[in-house]
Amino acid sequence: MKRLFAKFYLHLSTGVIVLGILAVSAHTLWSDRFDTWRQAEQSSQNLLTALARDLAGNLGLLDLTLQGVMQDLNDGRLHDLPPELHHHMLFDRASTVGYLGSLLILDEAGDVVADADGIVPRSANFSDRDYFLVHRQRQDVGLYVSHPFRSRLRHGELSIAISRRLSRPDGRFAGVVMGAVSLGKIHQLFQDLRLGWDGTINLFRDDGILLMRKPFDESQIGQDFGASPYVQKLLHGRSATFESVSPIDGIRRVISFGQLDGLPLVLTVALSVDEVFAAWTRKALIMSLMTGLLCLAVVGLTALFRSELNRRKKAETKLRRLARTDDLTGLPNRRAFREAFEREWRHAVRTRSSLALLYVDADFFKDFNDRYGHSQGDEVLRAIACTVDATIRRPRDMAARHGGEEFAVILPETDLAGARVIGENIRQAVETLGLVHANSPYRLVTVSIGVAAVRPLRGSPREALLEAADQALYGAKAAGRNSVRETHADTARSEGIALPYADAR
Ligand code: GH3
Ligand code: MG
Ligand code: MG
Repeated sequence: MKRLFAKFYLHLSTGVIVLGILAVSAHTLWSDRFDTWRQAEQSSQNLLTALARDLAGNLGLLDLTLQGVMQDLNDGRLHDLPPELHHHMLFDRASTVGYLGSLLILDEAGDVVADADGIVPRSANFSDRDYFLVHRQRQDVGLYVSHPFRSRLRHGELSIAISRRLSRPDGRFAGVVMGAVSLGKIHQLFQDLRLGWDGTINLFRDDGILLMRKPFDESQIGQDFGASPYVQKLLHGRSATFESVSPIDGIRRVISFGQLDGLPLVLTVALSVDEVFAAWTRKALIMSLMTGLLCLAVVGLTALFRSELNRRKKAETKLRRLARTDDLTGLPNRRAFREAFEREWRHAVRTRSSLALLYVDADFFKDFNDRYGHSQGDEVLRAIACTVDATIRRPRDMAARHGGEEFAVILPETDLAGARVIGENIRQAVETLGLVHANSPYRLVTVSIGVAAVRPLRGSPREALLEAADQALYGAKAAGRNSVRETHADTARSEGIALPYADAR
């Protein structure tokens, strides 16, 4: 029972240690992962903020320039100025706008009538451009950002136009003022930022048309991604950071997005989740491995400890058994007999049952030794032990070597009559062995047996039964040996042995 508890606590503490190790490393990894995530979020957000400020600043300035041009056109006084001055008044702000390709005024037919690049405008017609068509068709567009196109005036440079409608006082279409923004320059801006291998920057028009992207792929520029729920989320959501799989290349990213101030444009900055967590994943792998090894070590040590405990227990058990066994006969020895006697005595008291005891003593054994030698005597003792042991049958019956050539037999729940029968069986069995003993009057090895039994009460002295059996054996010897004698309660009492509890037949 104590061992069972020890084993239980051993396993319990091993479990607690292993769980503790696992919990600590899991917590460390988890909070590390959280920190990594926060850092990725912050860096994508910071990039977004800086980029958006730059783009919105320049494009906003372009819009202010367009509005300035419109005001100047409406100001009748300027028409009377010399052409150079007029040109200067109209376009002086344009030089401060970044990413600007060209700044043009178109008339209602789409022909260039004024050009920031020169007092004499370059001759071209843009009546087919989307921004021209949109403004001609509708009055209320305000600021319009065009579909990407290849510039006709600047060697086919990829561009978008930021434009506003020119109206006559009565509201009729008068043309368009537009600034072409070089997508190549925005591409350069994106290109200069380091985002890892799979980081991306996207500039969308607010209906999902892709205007510029890093990594750059011209076939994607101008494509409409408005149908994708993912892009819908960017277009209609407030500025935010989230994790998602890109519909463009299928890579999972941490995405920050936001509208450019006052412009129908949405900017996204995205970092690849795999890249963000690359270092963390390596660390997690190593740490999991170490944790696993540590747990294995703990479990291994426990197993080692347990097997050592088992080994000791087995050794102890063996020693204990040896300490209770008689070398010569293999029967329990005197010490084991005393223990069994104690146990059975208490059991008999508890159950109010009869306990019987037999002393079996070889007859004329000194003479046997003298005649046949001590080792021959040993053989005979072994034979007698074997015979006595074989004659008793019940599981709790016990035969022991009491000393020298004397054996003791404990018979629990057996009364005097029953014990006498067993005694007689033993005597006959030894006689039947037919071991020659020339110095005995019987010519054979024989035993004398003393039988006693008692139904003990609480507090009865145990020695009384031992003495009664001894007394009976003495009687058997006195009766000529090779015989069985019992001690009656009366006899015991008459001979001064207090046996008021001896088995009453
Ligand atoms: P009795 O019939 O009265 O019992 O006579 P006995 O000679 O058997 O009794 P006694 O007590 O005089 O002698 C016992 C002998 O048993 C003495 C000893 O030589 C022998 N003996 C005791 N233990 C052993 C043993 O382990 N091996 C052998 N071979 N003999 C033993
Ligand atoms: Mg003897
Ligand atoms: Mg003896």
